[in-house]
Amino acid sequence: MLVNAYTGLQAWFESGHKNPCLAGLPEELKNHPLMKQVWSGIDSSKVWDCHAHIIGSGDSGSGAWASPKMDSWRHPILKIQKYFHINGAGLDKKNEDISFVSRLAHLSSEMPAGYKTMLFAFDWSHDETGTPLKEQSIFHIPDSYAAQIVNQHPQHFQWVASIHPYRPDAIDALERAHAEGAVAMKWLPSSMNIDPASPKCKQFYQKLQTYNMPIISHVGRESAVPGGNLDFNNPLKAHHMLDAGVRVVMAHCGSDGKDKDYDNRNKVVTSFELFTRMMDIPAYEKLLFGDISATTLFNHAWVLKHVLRRSDWHHRLHNGTDYPLPGVFPLITSKQFHREGMLEAEHVPFLQEVRKYNPIMFDFAMKRLLRFEGKQFPASVFETRGFFQK
Ligand SMILES: [Zn+2]
Repeated sequence: MLVNAYTGLQAWFESGHKNPCLAGLPEELKNHPLMKQVWSGIDSSKVWDCHAHIIGSGDSGSGAWASPKMDSWRHPILKIQKYFHINGAGLDKKNEDISFVSRLAHLSSEMPAGYKTMLFAFDWSHDETGTPLKEQSIFHIPDSYAAQIVNQHPQHFQWVASIHPYRPDAIDALERAHAEGAVAMKWLPSSMNIDPASPKCKQFYQKLQTYNMPIISHVGRESAVPGGNLDFNNPLKAHHMLDAGVRVVMAHCGSDGKDKDYDNRNKVVTSFELFTRMMDIPAYEKLLFGDISATTLFNHAWVLKHVLRRSDWHHRLHNGTDYPLPGVFPLITSKQFHREGMLEAEHVPFLQEVRKYNPIMFDFAMKRLLRFEGKQFPASVFETRGFFQK
């Protein structure tokens, strides 16, 4: 999920809009009793953030690319989104690629030893014949660039490949990604133009299953990468992956948007209802998972309550930050979770301070502190390494 600018503006006044991107978490925050509390009972060497985006213009020769539409006021939503992503990630516009990586490496260095971030590559949209469609893509992050960042900072990062399954070289690319250490596959079906139900995906699923490589797939609405067939994000489409024995992580637990219920005459229901139905199929107990990235966005609080309540799911949930979103100030407001009874009053100023210095620490601390009807996320939701590491 990326920034939905319309809804982001609504929370503007509560959080302020600009991340000051301070560096160097102060001692009083490092030694704060709440900091000790959020890390107690956690083995930090097992904490992998399973959902994070790479941002960059390609100015270092990385091959990263963003559509020029994002720079034009003829596409105001895209332009505002870009502003927030740049501010949220603390980018230097004259040096986008390198400043993105160095800021995130710095933030990671402040996390306890062993903490890692899984960085997503992002493939082009492709047509039915597997030809890339640059005009219809919003951004592109090559696999080679994601792998290169890991080679530069192996103590902080892992990488997630993104390969369009219709590509004539899809299987070769998957073999290469596996050999080069990719720990998962990332798809955003609507904007990449992937129908997960297409027979063209079959061989790709077989290969993923052979490698036991999970696919992290977006389900439900996608606000930031417009266009494409939103039906491709329908959680029910994942039957095709799951029935091929592929482990699937549904991003954000399908917490945004609506989809057609194919089982009930295409009645329109929330995507989360379909996520729930799929999670509750006994045959998928060891195959289907959800990530809780972006569930703290102010318009997702309702879903967090459901997910916290469903403690029978907790061993199948994985934490992700959806970085740089935790650094985008208008999107997440700790005060709101206090009003909803999910955070104590004393948590709010602590979280607000941490966030100015380190949005990934903020994201971790907030999710560790959230509580609903006496239920919290257990350590296993954060200790995701065993799921992804080969
Ligand atoms: Zn995302």
